[in-house]
Amino acid sequence: MYEIIKKLRKDSLTIEELAHIIENEKYDEEILNYANEIREKYVGNEVHVRAIIEFSNYCRMDCLYCGLRAPNKNIKRYRMKIDEIIERAKLIAERGIKTVVLQSGEDTYYTKEIMSNLIKEIKKLDVAITLSIGEREFDEYKAWKEAGADRYLMRHETADEALYNKLHPSDTFENRKRHLFKLKELGYEVGAGCMVGLPGQGPIELAKDLIFLRDLDSDMIGIGPFIPNPDTPLKDEKGGDLKTTLKIIALARILIPTANIPATTAMGSLHPFGRQLALKYGANVIMPNLTPNPYRPNYTLYPNKICLFEADTSCIECTRAMIKSLNREVGKSYGFRVKAS
Ligand code: SAH
Ligand code: SF4
Repeated sequence: MYEIIKKLRKDSLTIEELAHIIENEKYDEEILNYANEIREKYVGNEVHVRAIIEFSNYCRMDCLYCGLRAPNKNIKRYRMKIDEIIERAKLIAERGIKTVVLQSGEDTYYTKEIMSNLIKEIKKLDVAITLSIGEREFDEYKAWKEAGADRYLMRHETADEALYNKLHPSDTFENRKRHLFKLKELGYEVGAGCMVGLPGQGPIELAKDLIFLRDLDSDMIGIGPFIPNPDTPLKDEKGGDLKTTLKIIALARILIPTANIPATTAMGSLHPFGRQLALKYGANVIMPNLTPNPYRPNYTLYPNKICLFEADTSCIECTRAMIKSLNREVGKSYGFRVKAS
């Protein structure tokens, strides 16, 4: 085994060692290929399909990078009605997809009770439920778990404390960490992850992200490029590149071999084959967009997001075809994490 891979497999790897690996291009090929081997060995050839419904673009937060931030007046806000969300979930279940992801801005219009009832209704459809609705009260997380929610996606965004605090005027890294560990304690499968290419983020900061994901033992890991949004304070920043983002995805696979790792929409928005490349170098999940129209184009986290003007449910067939074109299998199970024994 190559020296570099040996280093990556040892638990005592320091942030500095990892940063060195991240910034040195000479390791790239080895790392990408090894990530694919590890993916095959630990999570197999299946790619899990998780349909996402972006049910509200209202948000009380002001994350500097995001188009849904409360101060942005340039987007048309929407909230889907509960019946509309349930209808969508039914359509998803009918198409044989075993996970419904409910995502939104931090929108407290959907109270503890409203969400609990929604979760109970959707659970009747025999699907796993992933919530991705930001930081809420701990008793809300608990109630939703009891109502049947299985997973919670909340990226840590960046594990560099100073950078996190700068990018989140209304939050702190300490607090984000507390929420993620609480969700784990409550029994959720927890998804964290980061953006790559944030202003002020270099190899050391990215190394911190990977170590954080390992320490959390993140069940799911969402990694995508930062794409500057013209309606945000970070509009003039550079954004993430394909090569670095792929490498961070590959390293995440090597460090947390059994995690479920999506080929993110942001990867596909950055490059026409971004999601295919992610699946080739470590990822094993894909999340077709099932947000109905007329809402879909208004969920503008970042510009040039793919799939906004596709025919209503065509993302299901498109992602299934993508999986087959890569000689992989479309997952048929709920797609829970299977930890190595
Ligand atoms: N409000 C919830 C879920 C919606 S935001 C939450 O914050 O968890 C989902 C993800 O979109 C965020 O975690 C962030 O990493 C990503 N995102 C937001 N703005 C982005 C941008 N400009 N470029 C790339 N990803 C972005
Ligand atoms: Fe709101 Fe999430 Fe965007 Fe932050 S990243 S502004 S919490 S939607």
